[in-house]
Amino acid sequence: MADIEMEISIPTDNNGYVLLQCPFCGEYFKLTPDDYEDEGILDIFCPSCGLCGENFITEDVLELAMAMTKNVAMDMIYDAMKKWEKQFDSGLITFNAGKKPKPEPENPIQSGIEALTIIHLPCCQRTAKIKPMLKFTGCYCPFCGVKEYEPE
Ligand SMILES: [Zn+2]
Ligand SMILES: [Zn+2]
Repeated sequence: MADIEMEISIPTDNNGYVLLQCPFCGEYFKLTPDDYEDEGILDIFCPSCGLCGENFITEDVLELAMAMTKNVAMDMIYDAMKKWEKQFDSGLITFNAGKKPKPEPENPIQSGIEALTIIHLPCCQRTAKIKPMLKFTGCYCPFCGVKEYEPE
């Protein structure tokens, strides 16, 4: 069986963004790990309320990350077991992988997060993913806290 490396990190989405949540207003938004971990970025501002927080990785997000990581690992284990099933099939030993384990629910926040839209912050030359609604109401730049009224 192949080694399964378990690394609990916040999974990125298809566009390479990680999910963050404002500790003050609960707003979800996404930044690229490059920007989030950039040493030049000292504070992250919530695009919705404009407050800057210490930690935008909340328990909800961590829980979701754990569920997603676990599901990936479970799939890998199940696939490996399925392979064993085939290998042992012809021999005397029978091995049954059984039913595929039920994935951990990645909801309820998952669906809301998927609807986030990429914006370009001209002030910082960076991008973020925010709720489409914030494009109309204006949002705060997560990197400098400046209010952008018409983010692209
Ligand atoms: Zn906020
Ligand atoms: Zn900015």
